[in-house]
Amino acid sequence: MSAKTLNDWAGWAAQIEIEGQCFIDGRYREALDGRSFDKHSPLDGRRLAAIARCGQADVDLAVACARRAFDAGHWSRMAPVQRKRTLLYFAELLERHAEELALLETLDMGKPIAHSLATDVPGAANAIRWSAEAIDKVYGEVAATADDQLGLVTREAVGVVGVIVPWNFPLLMASWKLGPALACGNSVILKPSERSPLTAIRIAQLASEAGIPDGVFNVLPGFGAEAGNALSLHMDVDAIAFTGSTNIAKRLMVAAGQSNLKRVWTEAGGKSPNLVFADAPDLRAAATSAAAAIAYNQGQVCTAGSRLLVQRSVKDEFLEHLRDALQAWTPANALDPASRYGALVDAQHLEQVKGYVASGVEEGARLFVGGLDGTRDSGCYLAPVVFDGVRNDMRIAREEIFGAVLSVIAFDDAEEAVAIANDTPYGLAAGLWTSNLSRAHQVARALRAGSVWVNQYSGGDMTAPFGGFKQSGNGRDRSLHAFDKYTELKATWIKL
Ligand code: NAD
Repeated sequence: MSAKTLNDWAGWAAQIEIEGQCFIDGRYREALDGRSFDKHSPLDGRRLAAIARCGQADVDLAVACARRAFDAGHWSRMAPVQRKRTLLYFAELLERHAEELALLETLDMGKPIAHSLATDVPGAANAIRWSAEAIDKVYGEVAATADDQLGLVTREAVGVVGVIVPWNFPLLMASWKLGPALACGNSVILKPSERSPLTAIRIAQLASEAGIPDGVFNVLPGFGAEAGNALSLHMDVDAIAFTGSTNIAKRLMVAAGQSNLKRVWTEAGGKSPNLVFADAPDLRAAATSAAAAIAYNQGQVCTAGSRLLVQRSVKDEFLEHLRDALQAWTPANALDPASRYGALVDAQHLEQVKGYVASGVEEGARLFVGGLDGTRDSGCYLAPVVFDGVRNDMRIAREEIFGAVLSVIAFDDAEEAVAIANDTPYGLAAGLWTSNLSRAHQVARALRAGSVWVNQYSGGDMTAPFGGFKQSGNGRDRSLHAFDKYTELKATWIKL
């Protein structure tokens, strides 16, 4: 854990030199047409850096370099055990630069420095390391053939992979994809969000220092409609691994159909239910967890427990516990190591979240905690908001707000709870709290979601897949299942 104080972080933040160029074929460079855009910090509005605004020409160049590197085979055909060594060193370099990366992440998108240090950077290093360690233990298969045949089933790298990620966990979401994509031998072009490009740009150099060959790992900052769109339509990109909103996920699938039928793997949005039954083992603990489920990362979490379904008989008691628990989530300078609750990503998003708060009031939900006035003097801060008396057909219950705005909905029995929980276009995650073992299994089975947590909310690690049902996407990050996205299966038949 870092011993730095608020003054230390603020002092470093004032003088840190930030790289804003793109990274193609092993070196930093400006966008080919020289364009850039200014990146400001949501903490105080300060200008952090000019960022290369990559477009079609940069995508064409990066794809050509990535393809050349792939075909040359220095990485793609390297023995897995050697790729493992390089990636383990890359993970180690992320850890050696943990404080710098954490500071960049916090300045860029507003999360508390304590969380960048405890979760984002170590999580990213761990994701790279886990994939690296696995890659020389993944075997092919021998098919159950007739005696005169040998059927080999092997996995081959897909080729050039475009990785497009969001701004809520910039480094972590990228690493969940970079780990398996690189371990499998692909060349990668990472397109970070225009709202949070800094750590992606920085780690390009660390990857190079670790020994990843030129052209294998490229970073193209820029806007979704420009660099992202060009990647999605490119005829020589073999796969897109995407994390972001459901709307953009749909566009990427259309783009694949309009171009080369590239594989498109999507990890998209959510509106996850958290079901609290009257027989929850500990209502106070469940309320503390429900508070974290909506307030962590200022609510900008794909799996945020944004619909809290509480059994009517305990609802009032539960809401009092929730109100108490939310006091731990008060906006505070994200550079303060004691801060648990930082800023939203930018002023535009702050206004969007406030718009949802206004719409909840208009639709007749009852403000129970917070409101539009929970801001700080400067920066994009908004304290958590809880609405009681929400109906599942209200906008605040249907749309992903991506801020700490919680909808509380009462239910009477398990059947009704499951019906409400599943009445959403999304299916990313769900939580449930009960002491009844049978109910826990039955409800977990009935919930249409990629992750279900019982008597906890959130959790899990690299050992199990993470992804969504329904419009929360089709791909899975983490675990050996993630390797499916970055490999093609080949059947080779040998006549004996
Ligand atoms: P977004 O969809 O707006 O943007 C995601 C990325 O796509 C960005 O890099 C953006 O530049 C790019 N993009 C935008 N338009 C594009 C286009 N036309 N073509 C190609 N790329 C384009 O999402 P966001 O606002 O950055 O992130 C929030 C969303 O991410 C939420 O919906 C959240 O639930 C989701 N998310 C999902 C997971 C998951 O694992 N399922 C994890 C984190 C975030």
